Amino acid sequence: MPSSNMTLLSYFTRATQLFPEKEVVSCPPDGDQRYTYAAFADRVTGLAVGLAELGVAEGARVGTIGYNHHRHYEAYFAVPLSGGQLHTINAVLPDSHVSYIVNDAADSVLLVDPGDPLETVERVWDDIDCVEHVVVMSDSVPDTTLPAVAYDDIVVEDATVEWPELAPDQPAGMCYTSGTTGKPKGVEYTQSMLYAHGMMLMSPASMCIDESDVVLHTVPMYHVNAWGLPYAATVAGAKQVFPGPAPTVEELAHLIEAEGVTLTGGVPTVWISMLEYLEDHDVDISSLDRIVAGGSAVPEGVMRTYEEKYGVTIDQAWGMTETMSISSVSRPKSYMREWTQERQFEKRAKQGILAPSLDMKVVNTKGEEISWDGETFGELWIRGPTVVDEYYNRPDATADSFEGDWLKTGDIVTVDGHGYIELVDRDKDIIKSGGEYISSIELENQLMGHDEITEAAVFAIPHEKWQERPAATLKLRPESTLTADDVREFLSESYPRWWLPDTILFVDEVPKTATGKFDKKRLREQFEQTTLEQTPDR
Ligand code: ADP
Repeated sequence: MPSSNMTLLSYFTRATQLFPEKEVVSCPPDGDQRYTYAAFADRVTGLAVGLAELGVAEGARVGTIGYNHHRHYEAYFAVPLSGGQLHTINAVLPDSHVSYIVNDAADSVLLVDPGDPLETVERVWDDIDCVEHVVVMSDSVPDTTLPAVAYDDIVVEDATVEWPELAPDQPAGMCYTSGTTGKPKGVEYTQSMLYAHGMMLMSPASMCIDESDVVLHTVPMYHVNAWGLPYAATVAGAKQVFPGPAPTVEELAHLIEAEGVTLTGGVPTVWISMLEYLEDHDVDISSLDRIVAGGSAVPEGVMRTYEEKYGVTIDQAWGMTETMSISSVSRPKSYMREWTQERQFEKRAKQGILAPSLDMKVVNTKGEEISWDGETFGELWIRGPTVVDEYYNRPDATADSFEGDWLKTGDIVTVDGHGYIELVDRDKDIIKSGGEYISSIELENQLMGHDEITEAAVFAIPHEKWQERPAATLKLRPESTLTADDVREFLSESYPRWWLPDTILFVDEVPKTATGKFDKKRLREQFEQTTLEQTPDR
């Protein structure tokens, strides 16, 4: 048998042996940093030795609550290379979720950013019963009530280490789903899953990440390993840019210009805000070749504007925490490049075709596979080397969401004759009105295609007669004078009357989840008591 080598050690070795001079740029609060992969290798080794001195041994879970910077990146390697499990925790979750997640995972060490994350840990400290050490990801420890040490102080200089030989199924990462439905659920990633996902992202059938790329990490490192991009960029040998805590679109745009960024990723709301910024400011983003956007549907108008005005391709991707994020990408196939722009954009506005190594089926409520006609819909089931087959410690949730090694995604989709998946809606977001379905995603896309609407979230509100009806929350451009009737009239050009939202609210900002998606749970809760007077004709 050949050695499998399907662990992160092969990534680390390749990057540091073959690309020692490549740069890592980082913008943490205590001052910008720029170092090479060779220096990165030393820091990772020093951190691994420092963590071992704190008692981190094979099998230990190390939690991180932090943003996108070089120290977090070092931990992405030092912990799993040592045989530990890197458990990234969303830095902007409510306190009760943080204490629940840390205790559930039984993290023994926490690496925490100064500022809000450290304050969160101070507030929940008495509710946490497993953490032995708190390490502040900085060069010194700020004023704190916690028994904390500084990250830079535990990194041992000029250290050497014998990395353990790990099995491909050794747990290496962990992330909790954001809990938009019920209690957060733990998802564990093994060495071989991280390995396989990085390989997938390097493939031209996915993100085609290459040594010549300069990758800007816009997706928070606390969310599904920043979609796996730091691992893929490392094995590719690409230059990497970490923008620091909660960067503004202005900071991101300037980093693209200054560092010659070619590739970045993130939820559509970031790229919509970036467009608004670019309209009024003179920043040169011409180095940018492609943006991978996903997490929620990417409005077609946004893709067109980037392409036509800035020469930037937006590749829409689909994925979940349970699939290590990016699992399909929507790019026209070679023979489709002969098609009209219109037809190509129709494909690009879909969630795409499955990445190599994954397997899918789409199942209707009777458990039968649907036909790939682009119209019939069902639930997407998926499996493969980057898809988990259970939730950590949750047999109840596992029984609900898995059948054998198939993950039942909860996403309702159609698949067309070319194999392109289109997400009709998330099972819990689809609006069930009078026995018929209304797609919130479709209405949102249509609304965000209107010149005067920048953000649109459509969600179900309860209705006595029809069971549910759509409501829309909209953010308009500052100069807009659109009324609710204008909006309904605009939608009625494309949809029957019963699809039109009964309630339309204009807001300064649509509420967003910790990962930047429209927070439909919060919107639904706000509307829970709403009684509607209007009923549409059917
Ligand atoms: P959570 O499940 O905790 O909300 P995830 O980040 O795991 O967080 O979300 C995964 C879900 O996000 C998918 O099941 C799907 O509903 C949605 N999603 C991901 N990518 C897209 C996309 N390109 N278009 C529409 N929805 C998407």
